[in-house]
Amino acid sequence: MTIIGLDDTDSRERGMCTTYLATRLAEAIDEAGGAVDRRLLIRLNPAVEHKTRGNAALAIHTDIDSERALDLAVAELEPLAEVDDPRTSPGVVVADDEPAAVPDAVAEFTRRAIRELLDPTDALELLDEAGYRHRGWAGGRGRIGALAAVGSWAALDQWTYEHIAYREFDRCGTPRDVDEDSVFEAAECAYPDAWDTVDRVEAQAVCVPNAPGPIIYGIRGDDARVVSDLAGRIESEPVERTATFLTNQGTDVHLRDGALGDLRDGRAYRVDGTVASDPETRRGGHVFFQLRDPNAVDTHIDCVAFEPTKRFRDRVRALRVGDDLTVCGEVGSGTLKLEKFAVRSLRRTEETNPTCPECGRSMASAGRDQGYRCRDCGTSRSSPETVDLDRDLETGWYEVPPCARRHIAKPLIRGGFDAPVHPER
Ligand code: ATP
Repeated sequence: MTIIGLDDTDSRERGMCTTYLATRLAEAIDEAGGAVDRRLLIRLNPAVEHKTRGNAALAIHTDIDSERALDLAVAELEPLAEVDDPRTSPGVVVADDEPAAVPDAVAEFTRRAIRELLDPTDALELLDEAGYRHRGWAGGRGRIGALAAVGSWAALDQWTYEHIAYREFDRCGTPRDVDEDSVFEAAECAYPDAWDTVDRVEAQAVCVPNAPGPIIYGIRGDDARVVSDLAGRIESEPVERTATFLTNQGTDVHLRDGALGDLRDGRAYRVDGTVASDPETRRGGHVFFQLRDPNAVDTHIDCVAFEPTKRFRDRVRALRVGDDLTVCGEVGSGTLKLEKFAVRSLRRTEETNPTCPECGRSMASAGRDQGYRCRDCGTSRSSPETVDLDRDLETGWYEVPPCARRHIAKPLIRGGFDAPVHPER
């Protein structure tokens, strides 16, 4: 078996898409008499600054020989890749290996590419060691992603699907013509096996990209049949070609278990802590709070729900000091960008100044360690009053809505969480 890995062929401004290149390459393999077994769409570490959009890399599993595979990949890539864009740095890797039996070091490289920041030399050294064919253009940074895509079948054990419909190529750059009502209806029928097709609250067809490029829509789900059936019910401009990819989207494979005090920029974590400051909405609508280690008061991190996470921010604003959480998200500049969180326990009471038994007004502090006194009646109390807190949250998992979901983040509706879930759709 031959595995072809591809990455970094598109440009943010001009809009290509490595999935399109992979689809064209699969067609070229077919025309050359080869068979394509699988197409993989792998999302790598979303914290990578070089990414154009979603840090995707692609792999094709085929029976064509590796030399011919490299020739075909180069022939497809060279005319399509946006190599003039200084940010585009394509790479192709071809492995003469069974996809499930690549060397352990290659599978480990994939896991690291999803969870850490790597250097192109890491890829080049391993490529030499494994004896894989490869080509790079404009620096060839794309070989990191291409090699990670090659190792992914062996490295990963959770797979989802994306069915992508492509535009007629000369329409690229013009507004997409998609009947949104048909998208919402089809999405409703296929939910929850197909997820993140639309955002019902924002009334947004999230399966239709905004960026320039050849994709009309991409339908994601747990089942290949469901995603292609859903796509078949969407009314749109002519679909030139389609492809269904196996992907690691919606799996949370980028998250690692972490501990406060031990978190590093450029990585994404699942971490426990206690809310240490009431949530605060700052300029731009971003909501911040501090999470601390309950056993080490000085060990803490700021968590943020950014403005584009929309209604998720109301969940964050409902948190109170003392709530116990598990938070998930990427750490950058020492701040954890929330993707989801679980409420483990809610603080149910708070202490307030006591009420004066004579006049019913709130008593004032009488000074440090001196209890409380009513200014009007002179009554005093030694300790504060404990009152019940009205809470707008329940225990369990809360998440950003589909319109703000990272490709790799697992929607709660997919299940497998360790507490009740409150899915957004
Ligand atoms: P495209 O559709 O072109 O794939 P993209 O949003 O997926 O767009 P790329 O243009 O591929 O982003 O840019 C990502 C770059 O980062 C690639 O060169 C890839 O090889 C590299 N890369 C991927 N994962 C890592 C990582 N963990 N550490 C460092 N570099 C990485």
